[in-house]
Amino acid sequence: MSFRFTIAAVAVGLITTSGLAATAAPTTGTTSTVSTVAAAPARAKYVYLTFDDGPSTPYTAQILKILRAYGARATFFEIGRNVARYPSLTRRVDQMGNSVQNHTWSHPNLRKVSSATFRSQVQKTDRYIRAQTGYTPRCLRPPYGATNKLVSRRAAALGKSIRLWTIDTRDWSRPGTSVIVRRALANVHSGSVILMHDGGGNRSQTVAALPKILRTLKARGYGFTTMSCT
Ligand SMILES: [Zn+2]
Repeated sequence: MSFRFTIAAVAVGLITTSGLAATAAPTTGTTSTVSTVAAAPARAKYVYLTFDDGPSTPYTAQILKILRAYGARATFFEIGRNVARYPSLTRRVDQMGNSVQNHTWSHPNLRKVSSATFRSQVQKTDRYIRAQTGYTPRCLRPPYGATNKLVSRRAAALGKSIRLWTIDTRDWSRPGTSVIVRRALANVHSGSVILMHDGGGNRSQTVAALPKILRTLKARGYGFTTMSCT
């Protein structure tokens, strides 16, 4: 037995199983014209998840797995010497559709280094990231968010834009999973840049918080994309 869904059946609200649809008689025997009502274009809402200080084991791989499960992409500001230690992790971050960007070679306060040190911190990291991803990072996140006009000028001279954040989960201080979740969600809006860490210590709380953050934001209609670094 087969049933035909008709536009008429839909129009009278009998969008249901084929069994019930059988009770709705088509109003005409003529061919229906299917007209689709264009949905109002949904304004895309995005949050930028960012992870600093990696790559590290086992946290970076755990975070990648969670991001993939939620169809989310993130931006990883990696430390050059960690890239040198775990090159295949950096490659995986990139291959899974995330963005790998520059967080210096050894995490110094860029306000306090010489011009030569600034350059080597950035360019050495560039080289190691490029070897794994094939591209040169265009974004630089200064450690501790320590920036000023000189840091910006030096960054620009090396072709970098400074990228900070708008929401600091302070996950590195291990305040507890629920606190990390609450901080990530507290004042979030479209365009928010959320700071978390996949390196620099035990990040198990960050890993535990991430699915809850992603689930909640997804339910609120947010997508997750990489920061623009071109
Ligand atoms: Zn950092």
